[in-house]
Amino acid sequence: MTSMPELVAIFNGFGGIASVLVAGGALFEATDLGESSAQFTISTAASGIIGAVTFFGSIIAFLKLAEFVKKSWSGVAVKALNALLSLGCLGASAWLVIEPGSHEAYWMAVALAALLGIFLVVPIGGADMPVVIAFLNSCSGLAAAATGFVLGNNILIIAGSLVGASGLILTQIMCKAMNRSLGNVFFGDVGDAATDVGSDEQVYAGKVKSTSADEVAMLFDTARRVVIVPGYGMAVAQAQHAVCDLANELETRGVDVEYAIHPVAGRMPGHMNVLLAEAEVPYEKLVEMDAINPSFQQTDVVLVIGANDVVNPLARQADSGPIAGMPILDVDKARTVVVVKRSLSPGFAGIPNPLFAADNSLMFFGSAKEAVLDLVAAVKES
Ligand code: NDP
Repeated sequence: MTSMPELVAIFNGFGGIASVLVAGGALFEATDLGESSAQFTISTAASGIIGAVTFFGSIIAFLKLAEFVKKSWSGVAVKALNALLSLGCLGASAWLVIEPGSHEAYWMAVALAALLGIFLVVPIGGADMPVVIAFLNSCSGLAAAATGFVLGNNILIIAGSLVGASGLILTQIMCKAMNRSLGNVFFGDVGDAATDVGSDEQVYAGKVKSTSADEVAMLFDTARRVVIVPGYGMAVAQAQHAVCDLANELETRGVDVEYAIHPVAGRMPGHMNVLLAEAEVPYEKLVEMDAINPSFQQTDVVLVIGANDVVNPLARQADSGPIAGMPILDVDKARTVVVVKRSLSPGFAGIPNPLFAADNSLMFFGSAKEAVLDLVAAVKES
């Protein structure tokens, strides 16, 4: 499950490169047969360009998700280069339309689009990757639809259009979740760097309080409402079944338990929903961010399991870098917050989280599965 996002990125990319190769092959065949209609050349160029952007953009997204590439390069130079590459792609397409048998024009468009794919995704970092993944997914569909026109294949046109449209809808949902526009993601210089949020020592400054399973079980003893916030760490540790057992145990003791789902928690859209469904958590127990946020003030204990960026109060500050402006789960408003994770390490966005040092926060250090199993045992004993 934790490698699924990389797999999805690569699959999107393969869809793109397949379109490039099929359209290139069709061009060879068409040259032999003397086919030169405008529909054929335009859709061939579209297939090559969108496919190459998808493949090379997806490779960069894969490298970023797998943390082989950690840095993002942005700035005016990259934007200018992207503008030139886009113009180059259009120019090469026009050449192909004017000279339908020109293989050089097609492969030049593909080469320029490859560079465009790389330099469009390279500047994007921090928490904006979900939008990129959804967008590339849409592009892979559009490339397939264009290839459908090249081949005159209706099934490919319909299937590609469906993937393209659903990917665009998902992109829109992800942009809303991140409080960004698509233009802001691709050209907004959000990048990786947090601006002056302070070092770990400054942010935490000896204020972090650690706790144990027995202490948390005592908190649960007096709680009437508990909200569980799952994040990427729960997926890594495959702790969803243990989490479900803990929730069941609390419910048998009369505690009201719900799960707060942030739209970009984990590493792919719907990641937490899929994991919790696998553990047979009833779907009505999963509450979306907007619906659950007003209820945190009336929550006795929030149990954050392997989540970090999606509960980071720094997102409310305009100058907090990668996650600035991203709506978060307002867990800091609950009476007590217990954070289960292994250390004070940052999340995907790479910035410290002041929640860990808040007065109402307790850190329960450990890997999510073992920590939650300890909690289940402690609750049973209490
Ligand atoms: P984060 O990446 O912010 O944090 C995950 C935390 O889990 C880490 O701080 C880590 O801390 C902890 N962790 C790792 N392994 C374990 C373990 N075995 N047991 C317990 N804890 C563990 O996760 P969130 O879900 O809060 O946020 C998701 C982030 O990923 C957002 O920034 C989002 O934009 C981004 N993203 C989301 C995508 C999507 O589509 N959903 C796609 C791409 C990126 P420690 O090492 O100390 O244990």
